[in-house]
Amino acid sequence: MAGPVRDRDLGMDRAITRRDFLNGVAVALTTALAPPRWLPGWEVGPAVPGSYPPALTGMRGSHDGSYEVAHRLREPGFWDTVGAPAATGERYDLVVVGAGLSGLAAAHHFRKAAGPRARILILDNHDDFGGHARRNEFTEGGRTFIGYGGSFAIESPAAYSPAARALVSELGVDVSRWSSVLDHTLYSSRGLRSGVFFDKETFGVDRLVQAPASAGDGEGAEDETEEKDAWPRFVAASPLSEAARAGLLRLVRDRVDYLPGLDAAAKKARLARMSYAGFLTGPAGVPRDVVPFFQARTHTLYGVGIDAVPAQDAWGLGLPGFEGMGLGDRPGPGMNYDAIPNNDAETYFFHFPDGNATLARLLVRGLVPAAVPGRGADDVVTARADYARLDEPGAPARIRLQSTVVRVAHRGPRGRGREVEVVYARGGKLETVAARRVVLACWHSVIPYICPELPAAQKEALAFAVKVPIVYTNVLLRDWRAFERLGVHRVHAPGGFHSSFNLDLPVSVGGYRFARGPQEPIVLHMVRTPCLPGHPAREQHRAGRIELLGTDFAAFERNIREQLARALGGGGFDPARDIRAITVNRWPHGYAYQYNSLFDRFWLEGGPTPCQTARRRFGRISIANADAGAYSYADAAIDHGLRAAREALS
Ligand SMILES: Cc1cc2nc3c(=O)[nH]c(=O)nc-3n(C[C@H](O)[C@H](O)[C@H](O)COP(=O)(O)OP(=O)(O)OC[C@H]3O[C@@H](n4cnc5c(N)ncnc54)[C@H](O)[C@@H]3O)c2cc1C
Repeated sequence: MAGPVRDRDLGMDRAITRRDFLNGVAVALTTALAPPRWLPGWEVGPAVPGSYPPALTGMRGSHDGSYEVAHRLREPGFWDTVGAPAATGERYDLVVVGAGLSGLAAAHHFRKAAGPRARILILDNHDDFGGHARRNEFTEGGRTFIGYGGSFAIESPAAYSPAARALVSELGVDVSRWSSVLDHTLYSSRGLRSGVFFDKETFGVDRLVQAPASAGDGEGAEDETEEKDAWPRFVAASPLSEAARAGLLRLVRDRVDYLPGLDAAAKKARLARMSYAGFLTGPAGVPRDVVPFFQARTHTLYGVGIDAVPAQDAWGLGLPGFEGMGLGDRPGPGMNYDAIPNNDAETYFFHFPDGNATLARLLVRGLVPAAVPGRGADDVVTARADYARLDEPGAPARIRLQSTVVRVAHRGPRGRGREVEVVYARGGKLETVAARRVVLACWHSVIPYICPELPAAQKEALAFAVKVPIVYTNVLLRDWRAFERLGVHRVHAPGGFHSSFNLDLPVSVGGYRFARGPQEPIVLHMVRTPCLPGHPAREQHRAGRIELLGTDFAAFERNIREQLARALGGGGFDPARDIRAITVNRWPHGYAYQYNSLFDRFWLEGGPTPCQTARRRFGRISIANADAGAYSYADAAIDHGLRAAREALS
């Protein structure tokens, strides 16, 4: 979002920038100035010895230094440029690649079955554990504020499996407590509701309008009731053209059958093959300028806009236009899991202040007790993990961070050797360990590069899993008075750099207390999903990833400050004064790709799915990760971690 606002007005010169600079760029600079290593160009991440990763601000998520080695693996001749790895002499019963929920669940199950003396090593390329289940911390006025840098909540559109539920409860998490830890009325009692920010580049004028909950992306609107005249009032206050307003009102209010003459099954089959954007401008006949209003509504779930989301899914998601179509209440073939309403699944919900990072921290506590002090799922919320204890010689289970695995191969005949050699890059050098069993709980797209001995069909299936790029930005605000004045706590911004932002969910657990009033600091959560409308979903994800890796922290910071100034300026928001810290959790490889009836014929017409081929066990190597289920939820990560551990034990 380019604009005339000067850097100083935005606060680009504020101390926070320096702090982020120190955390993000300066450390990389220090490493660049260090004497060249024997692997030129290999960087180490921003975490310096003794640093505490959750409290690092600036560019986080897949931070600089975490992905360069893996990307270099794609270059032909990679192995010619590196020397022979150094053997550590370490031997493990199980080596897990990837310290996300899947890898941690696999290690947890293996240890439980094989006994506490089983030797386990978990390797991950990041400077923090948890994978997408990532914790952010901020300190302001002596208080700690916690945010989620990735995986938001224990929730799933499909029911949690008995095994995943058993693990959650074994970790001490009682999801039935959810309503007792959430302050249901904090925002609504102050008249704070949903809002839509129309930006002048897309809609001709900057305008924030209080909106019906169903006009946003649904995130965090559980407790909002929608008044009867909410839509007409919203539409009248919007800057949309007369024709667009009329078309929009007709769409949300009138019960029209836009595909007359077809039965419900035939309608669903048609809707599964057209995008929601195509439905709007085609059968529903709304003016073209309504499309930008809906374009980003599916970003937070699908990572793409309505040009790449099937109309049948839009029906399942509750988007307007289907009320009069007689589609019944049963999903049609090819619907995305996210679009299939499931009341049972919806009651299984819990959000910790750091999201599912709490699950990761509880799993790590079980594996390496010295690293995460305390007992139970309440005190872990405020516990400070000791990163120096994660990888101690002599400990049965170890977690080795900033270690990118570059090769996993059976020693001996292909797929049949008696042990597996795992080679990883750490601190600019290659090291090897030996394992009786390996679980690859990393992203599937990297596996063909690190495990070339896999069958060609399996490698092709693994490569199909193109992850969805997504950014969760957390901004620590001095207070939330501007939100109160404007009467909003969550804003959908269809044309914005971040397509939505919301004040944190008011949750108090264990010793952690949420802000009680608008005068207190608060974490603002913002979501961006870079994509390239008009192309098939997986192409959009690839393009979004390239764009994301080419956007530096300064560009993020400027966009964040400008977007918030423009959206909230009417409430007195001053980015230079009110923004205290920014953490951009960049996930170029974010959600697992979920199949889409517009682009994946097998998903609509039946037949084996790529993930079934991708996750086949190969000799001593088992394959986990949420990609193994083509399902972007924590329960898929857990289920496939547990399945891979069972394979490793067999
Ligand atoms: C922004 C975001 C929000 C989400 N919100 C929710 C939610 O609210 N609820 C929900 O249920 N699910 C949510 N999900 C999905 C859920 O969090 C994930 O499905 C789950 O955490 C994935 O766990 P995983 O272990 O399969 O993969 P990951 O968490 O991705 O872990 C895999 C790890 O392997 C590492 N790795 C990759 N290659 C290598 C290599 N060569 N060497 C070493 N390590 C490697 C990766 O860096 C990563 O750390 C969200 C996901 C994202 C990205």
